[in-house]
Amino acid sequence: MDMATESAESICSKIHSLLDLLPLFTDPSLVPFIDGLYFFYEKGESSFHGPEGRVVRVGNHPRSDGNLIGRLRQHYFGNKNASVFRKFLGGALLRAANQNHPCLSPGPGLGHWEKQDARTCERCQPVEVQVSALFQSRFKFRCVEIVDRHERNKFEALLIASLATCSVCRPTAHWIGLSAYSSKIHKCGLWNSQHVNGMIMNSNDIQRFAELVKNSYKKESL
Ligand SMILES: [Zn+2]
Ligand SMILES: [Zn+2]
Repeated sequence: MDMATESAESICSKIHSLLDLLPLFTDPSLVPFIDGLYFFYEKGESSFHGPEGRVVRVGNHPRSDGNLIGRLRQHYFGNKNASVFRKFLGGALLRAANQNHPCLSPGPGLGHWEKQDARTCERCQPVEVQVSALFQSRFKFRCVEIVDRHERNKFEALLIASLATCSVCRPTAHWIGLSAYSSKIHKCGLWNSQHVNGMIMNSNDIQRFAELVKNSYKKESL
């Protein structure tokens, strides 16, 4: 078989099956290593390749080493300017409640909630609490240890593109991500906007990813 011709659907299926070997976490402090990628799952979101739950976001700590748990904590307990995931989620909540919400105007991605480093006002400050509650009640995650930063960044991009390209795994009609400001999120069904149109994994990448998952399993199942 030609290595280069494995379909995104076959790769997506393998990614989901491999990740299903790993425990699901609800608390960042329980992750037994400090360098790796994380994969979020969301209540109500399953798909053909992820019948128990499809991956809804792949994340990384691309510019620093040793910060996997810190990064996850910023999503769970931080604020929208420290976490693009929180910015996406909060924006989607506001938009789902009111398409013309003043904290989102003058347009998608441009209002003070969705703009990087813009400050919250007293109307949207409570959204931080709602986003934190959403993480506690609707999200779980898995982690794969990848110590080498170059390899970690490479796999982040490959995994996001592979999952985004699968034509079978689509978001459900009521997915809150459909209210996010980035049309890339609606299109790929992931809370990711970077790397979604990049190169997908080949068979060698999948083989290496399987190794990384199995090594992570040894640490996580202790
Ligand atoms: Zn506001
Ligand atoms: Zn799929």
